[in-house]
Amino acid sequence: MDMVPVDRIRNIGLMAHIDAGKTTTTERILFYSGVTYKMGEVHDGTAVMDWMEQEQERGITITSACTTTHWKDCQINIIDTPGHVDFTAEVERALRVLDGGVVVLCAVGGVEPQTEKVWFQAEKYHVPRIAYINKMDRVGADHLDVLDQIHTKLKANPLLLQLPLGFEDTFSGVVDLIEMKAYRYGGDHLGAACETEEIPEESREDAELYRDRLVEQLAEHDLDVMERFLEKKNISPELLRGAVRKMTLKLEGIPVLMGSSFKNKAVQHLLDAIVNYLPSPGDVESVGGRSPKTGKAIRRELSATEPFSALVFKIMSDPFVGQLIYFRVYSGTLKAGSVVYNPNLGRRVRIIRLLKLHANKREEIREIGSGDIAATVGISDISTGDTICDERNQIILETISFPKPVVSSTIEPRLTSDHKKLDEVLEKLGVEDPTLTVKVNAETGQKIISGMGELHLEVVRERIRREFKIETKLGKPRVAYQETIRIAARGEEKYIQQGAGRSQFGHVVLDVRPLEDGEKFSLSFSAPESSVPKEFHDAVRIGVQESMGFGLIAGFPVTGVAVELVDGSVDSDNATELGYKIAASMAFQNAFKKGEPILLEPIMKIEVRVQDEYLGDVMGDLNARAGKISRMDNRNDIHVVDGKVPMSNMFGYATSLRTLTQGRATYSMEFSEYARMSEEKMQDVLKNQLGIYSLN
Ligand code: GDP
Repeated sequence: MDMVPVDRIRNIGLMAHIDAGKTTTTERILFYSGVTYKMGEVHDGTAVMDWMEQEQERGITITSACTTTHWKDCQINIIDTPGHVDFTAEVERALRVLDGGVVVLCAVGGVEPQTEKVWFQAEKYHVPRIAYINKMDRVGADHLDVLDQIHTKLKANPLLLQLPLGFEDTFSGVVDLIEMKAYRYGGDHLGAACETEEIPEESREDAELYRDRLVEQLAEHDLDVMERFLEKKNISPELLRGAVRKMTLKLEGIPVLMGSSFKNKAVQHLLDAIVNYLPSPGDVESVGGRSPKTGKAIRRELSATEPFSALVFKIMSDPFVGQLIYFRVYSGTLKAGSVVYNPNLGRRVRIIRLLKLHANKREEIREIGSGDIAATVGISDISTGDTICDERNQIILETISFPKPVVSSTIEPRLTSDHKKLDEVLEKLGVEDPTLTVKVNAETGQKIISGMGELHLEVVRERIRREFKIETKLGKPRVAYQETIRIAARGEEKYIQQGAGRSQFGHVVLDVRPLEDGEKFSLSFSAPESSVPKEFHDAVRIGVQESMGFGLIAGFPVTGVAVELVDGSVDSDNATELGYKIAASMAFQNAFKKGEPILLEPIMKIEVRVQDEYLGDVMGDLNARAGKISRMDNRNDIHVVDGKVPMSNMFGYATSLRTLTQGRATYSMEFSEYARMSEEKMQDVLKNQLGIYSLN
C-alpha cells in the first residue's frame, strides 16, 4: 500500500462514560468503513475492539491498540481508550498520540462523571472533539438536554449540526442542518441503506430555527459566513463545513451529532464528521523533544524531508507474533528493514517488519510516513514511552507521564516449577505496562507487583493465567507506601577494605534535606575536587540511588529528598568506584536515619454517585475511612460526592458500598497525591499492617 498523504489521515480516539456505547459505536464504525465482516454485539461478547478475552468478560476496554480503517479516501486510525477509571493512564497515553476525539454520550444519561473526566483530560492535551449523542432510540432520549449539559457542565460551545428524525423508538435518522436534508435509515438490518429526503413538514420549523442558530454561531467566528449572513445571501454547505472545521480545530466549538449505534442509525454521518471536522496530523502543532546529548530543546516538523522520529506508545502481547510495538511517526518516514536508533537506551534497532492492524487482519506495509501509526515486532529491549529516531539526528520526544502504583501484592506461582517462567512473564508485562512495577524482595525472595488498584492487579493475574497458562496466588493487597525525611541531617561514611585482592576506599559526607511537596530527588556536588574527585561522582550517585530504592523504615522507595555531597577525602592509592559507591550508600542511610524518617501514603480522589435514601450511610462510611469531602452536587436526583481518602482505608470498598446501598451506588477512584502520615498512624501501620515493631 502506498503511503497516505498527511491530510488524509485521522488519528482519533473514542471516549465515553462506561455504557454510553463506545464499544458498539467503534464496532459500527469499523463495520461501515468496510473492515468488519460480521457484527458482534457487546452483550454476546464478540465486539471486535475488545481484544483480550477478559475484557469481553468484564465488559471494559483496557488496551489502547490502534485499528486502521478507511472512509471516503481518508485513513482513520482508531486508538482505543479505556473506559474504566482504574486505567486512566491508558487514557492519558492515548491522548498523547491521537489528534482528535469523538466523545460518545448517552441521550438519556447525558454528561456523566467519566465524561467530564475524559473531557477535561482531552482539554489538557488540546484535543479537538466531536460530541456524538448515542442511544437516541431509548425512552427518555433528550438531545436538547444533553446539548445543554455540554454547555453547562463541560463549559463548551456546542454546534448542533443535526436534529433527530423521529423520537425514541421511532428514531430513524437525522435532519442535517448544513445540507438541510433528512437522512432516513431503513429497518434494523445493518442500516446501510439510507434514503435522502426533504425535511418533513413537522420538522421544518425546528430545522430552520436551529440552522439559523448554527449560522449565527459560525458567523461570530468566521468572516466569510458573517458577510453572507449579513447580506442575507445563500450560504453553501462547503462554507459552513469549513467554518465548523476551523472552530473545531481551534477548540472554539464542538460539533454535535446524534444517532443510535445499536440500531444502526446515522453512524455513517459520524464517520463523515470525523473526516470533515477532526484534525489531520498536519493540523496540530509540531512535536517537541530534546537532544539526548546536550539536553537542548528541539522541534521536529511533520514532513517527509525531516529526520525520522517516532514515539512508542504501546507494547502488547499478541498470540501470533509475540510483542507488538505500536508507534506514531512524528517526522520523516520509515521503511521496513531500516535501522533506527533508540536514544533512551543508546542502542540501534532494526525494524524488520511494519504492520497495520485492522479489525480483522494484519497488513504488512513497506513504508510509513509522518503522522501515521503502525506496529512492529521482534524488538525485545524497548519500553513504552521510548523514542526511535534517525541515529544521525537524535531526539528524545516528549514522553508520556504515568501515575504511580499505589497498591502492591505478593505474587507466586501455584506450582513451584513455574517460578522461572513467572519471572519472565512479569518482566514482559512490566515492559508493556508502565504503571505496573515488579520487584523481588532480596531478603525473602518474594515477588511483589504494584499497580494502580486492586482491579489492576487482578487483571494482571488473569492475563497471566489466560495468556501464559500460569496459575498464581496473589497476597493480600497492600498500600504502596513511600518513605521520606522530615528534617535536614548529615551522614558520613569512610569505607576501607584491605585484603588479598584489590583494596577499596571511599569517603563521603552527605547532607540530606526534605524537598518541597511533589519533588522527588535531587543530587548536587559541592565537595571540593581535592576531597572527592569528579570521576567518583557517578559512583556516589549510584550508591545514593541504590539506597533510595529500599528505605530504612520498611523497604519502601525513598522520595522527596535533596542530597548534597559536601565533603569526603581521597586516598589516591586505593580510591575506587566501588568504594565510593558503598560509602555513599551507607552515608545516605546514616543521614536518612537522623532525618526523622516518615512514611508517605497515597491519597485517592473519590467520587461516589448515590441516591438520596443511601446518602447518609455512604457519608458515614466515608467519614469512618477518614475521607475528606470537598464537594456535593445533586444531578437528576443523584447525589455526587467528591472527596479524598487514604488508599489504606479503601480496600474492599466496592463490596462494602454494594452492601450499604443494595448495589445502587457507583464510585470512581484515582490516585491524587502522596501525603505524609502522622507519627501515630505510621506506628499503627507499622505494627498492624507491616508487622514491624521497632525502627532501628
Ligand atoms: P461502552 O461501555 O461505552 O463501551 O458501551 P457499550 O458499547 O458496551 O454499550 C453499553 C450497552 O448499551 C450495551 O448493552 C449496548 O448494546 C447498549 N447500546 C449501545 N448503543 C446503543 C444504542 O444506540 N441504543 C440502545 N438502546 N442501546 C445501546
